[in-house]
Amino acid sequence: MSSIGEVIITGRVAAGMTQEDMANTVGVTQAAMSRYENDLREPDADTVERIADALGVTVRFLERASRPAAALAVDAHMRRRATAKPTVWRQMEAQLNMLRMHSDFLREEVALAASFAMPGFDPFAVDPADAARMTRTQWQMPAGPVRSLVRWIEAAGSVVLMTDLGNQRVDGLSQWTADHPVIVVNSAIPTDRIRWTLAHEIGHLVLHREDATDDVEREADAFAAEFLMPGLLIRPELSNLTLGKALDLKRQWGVSVAALIQRAHQLGVLPDSRRTSLFKQLSARGWRVREPASDEIAPEKPELLDHISAHLHGRGLDDGELAHVAGYRSPDHNRLMPPRDRPLRAVTG
Ligand SMILES: [Zn+2]
Repeated sequence: MSSIGEVIITGRVAAGMTQEDMANTVGVTQAAMSRYENDLREPDADTVERIADALGVTVRFLERASRPAAALAVDAHMRRRATAKPTVWRQMEAQLNMLRMHSDFLREEVALAASFAMPGFDPFAVDPADAARMTRTQWQMPAGPVRSLVRWIEAAGSVVLMTDLGNQRVDGLSQWTADHPVIVVNSAIPTDRIRWTLAHEIGHLVLHREDATDDVEREADAFAAEFLMPGLLIRPELSNLTLGKALDLKRQWGVSVAALIQRAHQLGVLPDSRRTSLFKQLSARGWRVREPASDEIAPEKPELLDHISAHLHGRGLDDGELAHVAGYRSPDHNRLMPPRDRPLRAVTG
C-alpha cells in the first residue's frame, strides 16, 4: 500500500536530498517533513504544491502516485558491482521507482497496445534455460542471434530507458509495475554488456515476478545465456574455441568474448584447462577491462517513448504539456521523454 509519505521519500532520495534539504526547500521544519514522510500528518494543499515543486512533479502525479492502487514495488532487480556504494544504488532504486510511477502515469493518458505479453514462470518449477526457450517461442523470435533485443522487449509492453548512470558499477535495474515492467540500462557500458543486461533483466521479469529463489542472479544469467546463445544452435560453433574465433562469434551474436567462453564451457565443449587458458589470454591483452569489437555490434535503441512523444507532439502538445502528461513539472524534469535538443542528464554523480 502506498501513501503520500512513501512517494515523498522516494522522490527525495531519487533527487539526492536529505530530509533537511527537503524541509528547507519546501519551507517547513524538519520535524514537520518527518511527519509527512511517515504519514503522521497530511500536508495541506499549499504544502502539497510546494512538495511537488521541490520534487519536479505535478500535484496530480503526487496524488495519483499516493493512491493505494499505485503500490510501490519494493524489490528492484539490480545488476551491480560489489563496489557500488549503497547510497548510490539506493538512489538509483528510488529513481527507478519514480520512473516507473511516471511510466504508469503516462500510460493512463496514452493507451498502449503491446504485441505480445511478458510471460511468467515459476522459478521453483521451471529451469531458467527452459524459460528462455519458451519466451523465444512465445514471442515467435527467429532462431539464431537476437537482433535489436530492445525492440522485442518494447513489443512485449515494457518501457526501456537507456540512460547514463554516471559510472560503470551499475549495469541496469528492472521492476514490475501494475501490468508492465520498466527496465533502466546504463548507456555508459559497451553494447554487448547492454544486451546481456537486457536479457538478464528479462530473466528476472519472467522468473521472479512473484517468487524469488535464493539464487536469482544465477538464474537470470542462465536465462540470458540461453536467450542470447541458444545451446542447440551455438554449441557446434563453439568447439575448438580460440580468441580469434570468439571475436568473430561476438560480432555475429552480439555477446562478449568472455560470455562466449563461459557458454562453451557450460555446453561441455571447452574443458576447464582450456577455459583457464583463454581467460589468461583475455587478461594479458587487457580484454577483461575492455574487449575489442563492442562498437561493431548494432547499438540497442529504445523507440517506444520516442514514438509516444512524437504522437503527442503530433496531437499538438508542446514540450510543457508533454511533461505534464508524464507527471513532470517542466520539460527540464521530464526524464521519460526529454525534449529532443536536451539529452538526458546523468542521474547521479
Ligand atoms: Zn540481476
